[in-house]
Amino acid sequence: MAPQLIRFTNGQLAQGNTLTKSDLYIDTSTGKITNGQDLFFSQQTSPIKTIDLHGQILAPGFIDVQINGCYGLDFSLPSTNYASELARVKQELVKTGVTSFLPTLTSQAPAVYAQTLPFLGADQDRNSGDGAESLGAHCEGPFINPLKCGIHKPDVLQTPTDLSALETCYGKQFLTAPIIKMITIAPELTSSPSLIPDLHSRGIVISLGHSAATHDQASTALSQGATMLTHLYNAMPQPHHRDTGIVGLLGSSTSTQRPYYGLIADGYHVSPSMARLAYKAHSEGCCLVTDAMSVLGLPDGRYPWTNGEYFLKTGNHITLERTGGIAGSAVTLVDCVNNLLNWTENQATGIAEVLQTVTGTPAKMLGLDGVKGSLNVGADADLVVLSKNAEGLLVVEQVWKFGRMVFTAEAKKEMAKARL
Ligand SMILES: [Zn+2]
Repeated sequence: MAPQLIRFTNGQLAQGNTLTKSDLYIDTSTGKITNGQDLFFSQQTSPIKTIDLHGQILAPGFIDVQINGCYGLDFSLPSTNYASELARVKQELVKTGVTSFLPTLTSQAPAVYAQTLPFLGADQDRNSGDGAESLGAHCEGPFINPLKCGIHKPDVLQTPTDLSALETCYGKQFLTAPIIKMITIAPELTSSPSLIPDLHSRGIVISLGHSAATHDQASTALSQGATMLTHLYNAMPQPHHRDTGIVGLLGSSTSTQRPYYGLIADGYHVSPSMARLAYKAHSEGCCLVTDAMSVLGLPDGRYPWTNGEYFLKTGNHITLERTGGIAGSAVTLVDCVNNLLNWTENQATGIAEVLQTVTGTPAKMLGLDGVKGSLNVGADADLVVLSKNAEGLLVVEQVWKFGRMVFTAEAKKEMAKARL
């Protein structure tokens, strides 16, 4: 098919750690970023359209590697209309700037994996109309430590004796990328030295979390092929200056022992100062995650909790009605970016650098460097156009998926006006 070029001009491209004034070309026939000038000179192909960005930021689409649900769907709750609900929420999620994600399952009984994993694997169709694209499921548990299980159901937790225990739990046919892309595991529970290498060889990212591992146990897991930490600080021992635990890995002297890490930057799960500490120690590993629940995108109010209790949603803040304790998150990824920009005083010069935490860094962590999270030629044309509002916060203005615009804030405003 002949190239169908679109040229973005007059914008600031979030490339690497800097904002660059440059044009960007995408080819809608391939859904990829392309070298428009080369095509012009070699094939006399001119853009079919030019988008004037009026100085706004053009960034790669966001990637959320830990999201439990949104817009009314809990990914861990099977139902007869699960497939259609999943299709619906993908269309909503993409409007928040999240063009790819790992639908995340909390610890469940095997029957739940059998009913949900067939729908959650990596999308293969490259259809821009499908909304946010699954890059594969993130199974957070059930091979986690009961002492650090948080709100996961204790009665479904299991011990990861060996690979066959995981195959039995998740389903043998699902225990491979692109169905399961990431597993959160407590490494201290297994005595099998081949478990992590075996999972790694199937293309699965091993993330350490909901764990009471010592620094040495976690280090051993990294040397076996684990590369990630699940929601740093939460559900793991807090660092002591002589007994640093998992968190202390961020300060390791060798780069191979400094893992990637998820950070819930909603302002409640991690204090701004501890988020800043982690980011300053190891910015190259930081992947902001929402860890959002099904109420992300729903109105504020009182909602039923899984065990018969109720929780309250107030903006991004979710609390259990009975105790007032944190009961999850409803933050958008762009708000996490705004928080980290604010906490690290990076609003003026560090925007591109902080945007890496939701673009290039999670892409690298997932082994998708050059495909996702990048504006380089050859990468998927998953794009977000960002403006700054009166408070200096980044706002999603447009979202593009596989080279086609799938959301514009302008159209949303027009529709709201028409309804009045
Ligand atoms: Zn968790």
